[in-house]
Amino acid sequence: MTKTVHHWIGGKTVEGTSDRWGPVANPATGEVGTRVALASADEVDAAVAAARAAYTTWGTSSLAQRTAVLFRYRALLDAHRDEIAAIVTAEHGKVHSDALGEVARGLEIVELACGITTQLKGELSTQVSHRVDVASIRQPLGVVAGISPFNFPAMVPMWMFPLAIACGNTFVLKPSEKDPSASLRLAELFAEAGLPDGVLNVVHGDKEAVDALLVHPDVAAVSFVGSTPIARYIHTTATAHGKRVQALGGAKNHMLVLPDADLDAAADAAVSAAYGSAGERCMAISAVVAVGAVGDALVGKIRERAEKIKVGPGGDPSSEMGPLVTAAHREKVASYVTGAAAEGCEVVLDGTDCVVEGHEEGYWMGPALLDKVPTTARAYQEEIFGPVLCVLRAETYEEGVALINASPYGNGTAIFTRDGGAARRFQMEVEAGMVGVNVPIPVPVGYHSFGGWKDSLFGDHHIYGNDGVHFYTRGKVVTTRWPDPADAPAGVDLGFPR
Ligand code: NAD
Repeated sequence: MTKTVHHWIGGKTVEGTSDRWGPVANPATGEVGTRVALASADEVDAAVAAARAAYTTWGTSSLAQRTAVLFRYRALLDAHRDEIAAIVTAEHGKVHSDALGEVARGLEIVELACGITTQLKGELSTQVSHRVDVASIRQPLGVVAGISPFNFPAMVPMWMFPLAIACGNTFVLKPSEKDPSASLRLAELFAEAGLPDGVLNVVHGDKEAVDALLVHPDVAAVSFVGSTPIARYIHTTATAHGKRVQALGGAKNHMLVLPDADLDAAADAAVSAAYGSAGERCMAISAVVAVGAVGDALVGKIRERAEKIKVGPGGDPSSEMGPLVTAAHREKVASYVTGAAAEGCEVVLDGTDCVVEGHEEGYWMGPALLDKVPTTARAYQEEIFGPVLCVLRAETYEEGVALINASPYGNGTAIFTRDGGAARRFQMEVEAGMVGVNVPIPVPVGYHSFGGWKDSLFGDHHIYGNDGVHFYTRGKVVTTRWPDPADAPAGVDLGFPR
């Protein structure tokens, strides 16, 4: 190993002491040159203690102080976009332009946090009764934990900690152990921007570290983003320990293509949304539902485009799609394609034999396209999280929507049509948290919240936007009477005010 990734606690690097390490590979070469410290419960406790100590001053810091740090942080992140994106590419594998996009979307939440002064304005009603005023205010929770997935090692942590910290909380982040370095750089830059020690801490680890956070008495709330089984577990466990929880889970996002759609635009969108970031996006389109007679033509157009995608190392500017994150994940993704024909699918593009010259040890998989996929096929029922697109056929709009609504997932969905009435009907009838109309990946901007329905989210709050501010604060209503010295004493009254 040439590099070790340590924890960041109390504003400085802290070496791991558990003597447990996780491998971090470069997915484009298969080389495991880095190891990451896996925290014990005691190390998690040290991070929570640092956050708790920092909360005593950060929790009552002025809005002016917080926003000054955030504005400096925004400028530093902007100046280090390329560097952060390169760290993401080296450990995740996605192409550099895509990594730059994830940094930009994370930065958007920092920008939202820069405007926290407006978001935290309370409400005041004067003279609700004689000389009585009522104010609603929102206050921070204390120490908040964030647990993030491998697929957006910079953006997803930034969905969480900037807003939580802007609201006056302190934070312990447990990033994915598969690509842990980006979050450390994000923490270092925040410190450089003037964030006091202990306000943001990063502990690396696996289930042991996560479990320690879920039951820790000093952790008030948990933000989680990851797969559905773990999201469900996080929600159940952390709420049982009295914590506020938002747990965003996995997805199977459908794109409904109506017979009147512009098929070239729909095919462009399906290919971009299915194979971008090698399908390792929670908003990737993994199922296209072709309505009426458009199926064959649409599959032809998707195939034509998918065949041309250049697979290669993320650092090579000519690559359009990078490798999968680990060798084990690559094997799992390939298994869905290998078993597809036996389950009744037509394998239009296989993708499993993809090799990149000069990088033979990388975790490669080319675009795979499965047509006429039955809803019983494993490739349709499970979240694959790789470059595998399933096409299903439906006779009518109603059949298509019913199919989408029967999925246990409800993260995002999209409709491609020229019919405004059908699009509006879809927007009202479909059961998903984010809906695109001629937009394949409807990830909202930072000032609108993000989150799915059904098994794609456990908890009441979506992430960032207004929901994010709400999640990271709790309400208090203050009723005040300042009697005039000239008033006669009110006297005792045991009645309920009418
Ligand atoms: P994952 O669920 O395996 O891991 C997420 C986090 O949970 C990691 O930090 C990991 O260390 C931790 N973890 C894993 N197993 C655990 C266990 N048994 N107990 C406690 N903690 C555990 O997810 P992943 O593979 O890193 O990321 C991909 C998944 O994330 C996909 O399912 C994808 O759809 C989902 N995702 C969802 C969204 C969304 O907004 N809904 C966004 C990004 C990714």
